[in-house]
Amino acid sequence: MKKILLIDDSKTILDALEGEILRCITGKCLNDFEILKAKSFTEASKIIRKEHKEISAAVVDLNLPDCKSGQAVLLTSSHKIPSIVLTTVDDDNVKALLLKKDVLDYTKKDSFNSIKYVANFVKKILRNYQTTALVVDDSQIFRDAFRTDLEKLRINVLEAKNGREALEIMDNPDADISLVLTDYNMPEIDGIELTIKLRQKYDKDTLSIIALSTSDDVNVLADFIKEGANDFISKPHKFEELNVRVHSNLDTLDLFKQTKDLANKDFLTGSYNRRYFFEAGHAIIDKNKRKDTEVAIATLDIDLFKKINDTYGHDVGDVAIQEMASILEKSLRVSDLVARFGGEEYCILLEGISRNDTQALFEKIRGNFENNEVVVDEISLKYTVSIGIAYGKCDDINALLKVSDEALYEAKDTGRNKTIIHDI
Ligand code: GH3
Ligand code: MG
Ligand code: MG
Repeated sequence: MKKILLIDDSKTILDALEGEILRCITGKCLNDFEILKAKSFTEASKIIRKEHKEISAAVVDLNLPDCKSGQAVLLTSSHKIPSIVLTTVDDDNVKALLLKKDVLDYTKKDSFNSIKYVANFVKKILRNYQTTALVVDDSQIFRDAFRTDLEKLRINVLEAKNGREALEIMDNPDADISLVLTDYNMPEIDGIELTIKLRQKYDKDTLSIIALSTSDDVNVLADFIKEGANDFISKPHKFEELNVRVHSNLDTLDLFKQTKDLANKDFLTGSYNRRYFFEAGHAIIDKNKRKDTEVAIATLDIDLFKKINDTYGHDVGDVAIQEMASILEKSLRVSDLVARFGGEEYCILLEGISRNDTQALFEKIRGNFENNEVVVDEISLKYTVSIGIAYGKCDDINALLKVSDEALYEAKDTGRNKTIIHDI
């Protein structure tokens, strides 16, 4: 659970900040967090003493009634809590001094826009904890300088000494890198060649590339951009420039992801939709056809779901469907293709699994539903699912779906709460 600490002596500001942060963060896969509010230095100290390890970000007022100006920021930064200062004090010297500590931004409290800006910044910091950047530079000094400031923003950092090393690191699927910052002049593979190679594999919607340039490299900047770099930062860099450019690039990646999710995902459950199932499913089926291996498609449908809606209302029915998504997510591998086909029906495509294991897996899943209790306020209910599976070597997704549907109807017709498998 991530915690966000807000320190301000004005209740109005605290409430406005809380409201905006909740609005920014909810629904962005960052649901698991708590907001802590402190109206004074004393209250803030108490919270920090108890919870500093769990606090992922703080918004801090400079002037509080029970301490010297800036003392609360010294407290948060001494506990290595990434902090954003929101203050009425407009002083460039104070700002410069604070940015040298663990303070990531300094915003003047002048209108509701500043509250919105800070809330958005908190969202970026929370996102950064799950973001990895790769810094590619043959100079240890520059690598260190970029690492320090990226880590200050809570971005995870990997390093490479040249383009060849960078490509090796990118090849590791566990690395999950969304940002590459690369120097130009390096031994073996230089920055431009690296950019060309990366763009053959990663589009701009999944990877941002930022060129790092000294004043001697001005002419190569255009080449970098032509070959697919998104942006550049001059060396030696200033923290504020890095902060703005890195975040604007990560925001663009987020926008791409949101647009894709809107097209591919279902609003109620966050599961993939039918459209995406066909798109991704075709590729999986083609691959298995080439390898001459079996695939399985399972269709799951809640038994007598209409009764749940009729008895408890549509809202409770919606929760039952959302729970279906979470049970399936817990019971399957990330590589399995799971989609909500509509209503209370899900389809799942599996590869690399034997017929017996498929049957055993879905019997287990059927049992998970049988044992699960859906709790909504005072209401508690249980439901079962029927499962139809098509198994075999097949290059036609529609034929597989038809057979799994027939198996599902057999399960429904012969008593429900059953798993039936048909060969194709
Ligand atoms: P069976 O065991 O034969 O599958 O019976 P059933 O009642 O589950 O199936 P039926 O197809 O008769 O009813 C499905 C109901 O699901 C009808 C529809 O109003 C409801 N439904 C469809 N989409 C949603 C949804 O998004 N939310 C809720 N709450 N209900 C939905
Ligand atoms: Mg049903
Ligand atoms: Mg149905």
